[in-house]
Amino acid sequence: MPKVEFPQEFIENTKAILPSHLSIESLLDICQQPLRKSIRLNSLKMPAGESLQKLTAQADPIPWCPEGVWLNGQPTYQLGNHVSHLNGQFYIQEASSMLPPMALSYLCEKPTLVLDMAAAPGSKTTQLAALMGNQGGLVANELSGSRLKGLFTNIQRCGVRNAALTHFDASVFGAALPNTFDAVLLDAPCSGEGSVRKDPDAFKNWSLESTEQLAAVQKQLIVSAFHALKPNGILVYSTCTLNAQENQDVCQHLLETFAGKVEARSLGNLFEGASKAQTAEGYLHIWPQLFDCEGFFIAAFTKTGTTDAPPPLDYKLGKFPYGPMTRKAQSAIDEHLSNYGLSRPAEMTWYQRDNAYWLFPNALTPLINKIRMDRIGVKVAEQFKRDFRLSHEYVMAFGQHATQGRVSLDAVQARDYLQGKVVSGVDGLPAKGEVIITFEAQVLGLGKAVNGKVKNLLPRDLVRDQAVTEF
Ligand code: SAM
Repeated sequence: MPKVEFPQEFIENTKAILPSHLSIESLLDICQQPLRKSIRLNSLKMPAGESLQKLTAQADPIPWCPEGVWLNGQPTYQLGNHVSHLNGQFYIQEASSMLPPMALSYLCEKPTLVLDMAAAPGSKTTQLAALMGNQGGLVANELSGSRLKGLFTNIQRCGVRNAALTHFDASVFGAALPNTFDAVLLDAPCSGEGSVRKDPDAFKNWSLESTEQLAAVQKQLIVSAFHALKPNGILVYSTCTLNAQENQDVCQHLLETFAGKVEARSLGNLFEGASKAQTAEGYLHIWPQLFDCEGFFIAAFTKTGTTDAPPPLDYKLGKFPYGPMTRKAQSAIDEHLSNYGLSRPAEMTWYQRDNAYWLFPNALTPLINKIRMDRIGVKVAEQFKRDFRLSHEYVMAFGQHATQGRVSLDAVQARDYLQGKVVSGVDGLPAKGEVIITFEAQVLGLGKAVNGKVKNLLPRDLVRDQAVTEF
């Protein structure tokens, strides 16, 4: 009994657009097969420790992403409970979903400002940040409030420090930030036909009408994305769906709307074998049976001319709640960080909000007062009288470079720490004060030395109460 029931309309629609070398039977057949598990190693947190090496010992490389691997054998536990996932060393990401950021960095090598218009839960945001080497600025936007929270958790876990989070319907960007970004990724909300191997319910609410409705939203978003690009900027449009309405037709709408100012870019040389998925226009249509992965669609464009900005938005920005830091406060926090052998990187600037100190990426400060940003950069610490308390996000982003004030746990202690417990028997623990907790040289979080034990300072929402942590 097949686990997925395909609507007849989907089958007919798909037959009409399948390339001649592929059959509908091979598509329907592979959609009933389980998906290979894939992960992307986070280059912001390397080198890999022993646990991660063990996990990837039998892995196969993903041809289009040097950091991506297929794990051989299906781990019996949830990968999200693996210690190297919790410390941000890998992201559980479908192989085909690694393509859009690869296409963006292939066409735009060193962008200063990038916009990720529909970003949650953050697989591509964290991949883009890694490809940017945490330099420049990356605006990650998400419409859904609850998904925005998950996006922050992933950015924090992966040690991303060059991002700002925004919370808008992404159709605002063209008007709010016209001609601004070197590159824009629109990984659009879509009908998800390509993700049926992961989600057998993907077709539950499927109808031709809903794909048409989604296509209307996608057309609005792609026009906004294009306005937000600088001249010569690169736009990458992607979906995890297979139909032409949400893919080629949306791209055609872009080409017609901005005729003379837009050029479709070929992705046929993105990786060896990409030509198998190449469409006549140069887009990549990843049918699941081509590379035994999820279905995906990726298109790229250059903005060859300037566009007239849409009328400005009529919305109140509100007062920007951060201000520059006083010299006195700066030298106090600089001194505190030097206790860990850490300092402010040149590409970031101190900001202050009440008693909290932040580092903002310089590349993003020109956007202040142009668009409301929910978070920018990294919260470093809060000050209580003369005492500083470092933040979890700061040590996740910077702690691996600390040369002092860090203690290393063994596997049993690390499991206790991740389960929110007090940890005893830690070698080299100072008499008192905050310490950076590491396992296999990677940071897990913060603790406080009290009476020869480590008081657990892991944020409550990250504590793994029930789940076993795998090593
Ligand atoms: N890029 C994400 C990743 O790689 O992890 C996946 C993005 S998912 C395909 C599309 C996202 O767009 C969803 O999180 C959805 O909530 C969001 N979304 C839907 N409508 C939107 C809109 N009008 N503006 C911005 N985001 C939107």
